[in-house]
Amino acid sequence: MTDVRYDVAIVGGAAVGSAIAWFLKAELGFAGSVAVIERDPTYARASTTLSAASIRQQFSTPENIRMSRFGLDFLKTLKRRFGSEADVGFREGGYLLLASQAGSATLEANHVVQRAEGADVALVDPEALERRFPWISADGVALGSLGLSGEGWFDAHALLQLMKAGARAHGAAYIPGEVVAIDRAGGRIDAVRLAEGQRISCGTLVNAAGPQAGHVARLAGIDLPVGPRKRSVFVFRCREPVGPMPLMVDTSGLWVRPEGDVFITGISPAAADDPETDDLEVDFPLFDEVLWPALATRVPAFEAIRQERAWAGHYDYNSLDQNAIIGPHPDIQNLIFANGFSGHGLQQAPAAGRAVAELVVLGRFESLDLSVFGYERIAENRPVRELAVI
Ligand SMILES: Cc1cc2nc3c(=O)[nH]c(=O)nc-3n(C[C@H](O)[C@H](O)[C@H](O)COP(=O)(O)OP(=O)(O)OC[C@H]3O[C@@H](n4cnc5c(N)ncnc54)[C@H](O)[C@@H]3O)c2cc1C
Repeated sequence: MTDVRYDVAIVGGAAVGSAIAWFLKAELGFAGSVAVIERDPTYARASTTLSAASIRQQFSTPENIRMSRFGLDFLKTLKRRFGSEADVGFREGGYLLLASQAGSATLEANHVVQRAEGADVALVDPEALERRFPWISADGVALGSLGLSGEGWFDAHALLQLMKAGARAHGAAYIPGEVVAIDRAGGRIDAVRLAEGQRISCGTLVNAAGPQAGHVARLAGIDLPVGPRKRSVFVFRCREPVGPMPLMVDTSGLWVRPEGDVFITGISPAAADDPETDDLEVDFPLFDEVLWPALATRVPAFEAIRQERAWAGHYDYNSLDQNAIIGPHPDIQNLIFANGFSGHGLQQAPAAGRAVAELVVLGRFESLDLSVFGYERIAENRPVRELAVI
């Protein structure tokens, strides 16, 4: 098979890989050649297309808030970037995070950080919550935190297609194929090899393989604590009208939000029940045993609901600290990570794309300093503490 060469090869062409290609070719005017290698151009199992596609500013770490605010700006400037027809159906429905007595001090502390970063958020006491949202029962709620603007949900597939088509139009090549080997010569990556035998040599290799990022890193002999963790999402219909409803994160840990005339909901399992797995079988007992009772407790109208559909996707789970890993490998400078977003990677894809493009073109971060998310912390076992993980 022929051996081809690209200045930049990106493994994985979903939201993160396509954002990197878009920013490289379209926004930073990178003159070199860019290849995006994607094993499944239908994206049937990608996190991007199986996600809940929501964006929030309610994080505790300034860098996470900044990344999502960058994502928000990206969503709001699509037409300028991609043309007047560009639309991802962004619904600015807000997030409502609920805390019990035990969690209220954290919510208050996060609020201070969020306000300092310019987020439009308000703390709401239980009485005010019940006045504002008559469908809610605030039993056991000590405090709520409500996003007043700049948070909501959108069509992940549409965003992916915009970035992918845009990157291609600006010269990025999308190559179908699975990377099954990586050739490394000491401190440099030389090339990747595809299942069909093709060898693609590269100046820089970017790992944007989502939940498979740990596997791809191992092909280069590198440890990366990122693997697939299953998350089930359930679609249900409520007999009574309820709303308007933001994306609500309950004290039980479940999240629920409207999607057109139905609702979607999910919850992360306890750590002991959350192994790495490649399977995408929906965990149906989770709905009946955990979600429905908790939904009906918080929203009495949800006593009478009908579960209609369900799907499962994989979090690109960083088992050190559930945060992104962005930046070069300290000893292999032509290998860059954009991995481990763990449940908040869709909203962070534009910021990650911009950041990696800056590393390639400028050799440093320019728009947002994301050095806190560097690989060094993994090697040194230094977690970044994010208190608002969903
Ligand atoms: C149920 C669920 C709900 C979520 N909700 C949200 C949310 O509300 N908001 C949010 O911001 N994020 C959310 N996320 C997380 C978000 O979806 C991910 O963080 C994000 O999509 C990661 O994008 P990615 O491009 O890195 O990974 P992916 O979308 O998984 O893309 C990786 C790509 O790499 C390809 N690939 C893998 N290995 C190889 C290989 N060896 N060779 C070639 N190609 C390869 C795959 O085929 C895939 O297309 C959710 C995730 C799930 C599962």
